[in-house]
Amino acid sequence: MRYLTNESSGRMGFAIAARAARIGCEVTLIAGPVGLATPRGVRRVDVVGAREMLAATLRAFRRADALFMAAAVADWRPMRRIPGKWRKREGERRATLDLVRNPDILALAARSKGRRLVVGFALETGDGLERARRKLKRKGADFIVLNDASALNASRSVVSILGSDGTCIRLNERSKSSIARSLVALVARGRRR
Ligand code: C5P
Repeated sequence: MRYLTNESSGRMGFAIAARAARIGCEVTLIAGPVGLATPRGVRRVDVVGAREMLAATLRAFRRADALFMAAAVADWRPMRRIPGKWRKREGERRATLDLVRNPDILALAARSKGRRLVVGFALETGDGLERARRKLKRKGADFIVLNDASALNASRSVVSILGSDGTCIRLNERSKSSIARSLVALVARGRRR
């Protein structure tokens, strides 16, 4: 085994950061290992693991008005870190990897959010709306942006934005920068209320 990952490109988070900076917000972009250029006017913090991302997120969120949690965080991480190479033994036909749960960054940040707004993302198959609604509640977010699987590593997407007040806004297929514009406007409106 060389690498366990997913196909997420990070483009949605970068598009949101770029849009928020464009309209004059002070933006901290906490980025996993993605090959994307830092948008103009954005402070970038690079992280690798979920625990590192949790620490950076909680630190930045202390001084923030809103959190967009677009990162595709792995639910699990390997239990042990092996120093050096994981060598196969002669005749070994199978191997097991013990995994432990990663912290849920969105849920932890939302716990102490007060009046700050928290936006999460969900990628669902099947009964997506119902699952996303449950996720919104379980994680304590103000909004959940529901994507379907075609959004993975793509530049365009169809999304539904579910609000904790029961609202549901569907955005027909459009670019991630156009979705970012709608999301940032929605949160900016929410902040002014
Ligand atoms: O539970 P699920 O991974 O489907 O939830 C997706 C949402 O939760 C996204 O906003 C993602 O960034 C966030 N998340 C997180 N920490 C995790 C897993 C997901 O903040 N460990």
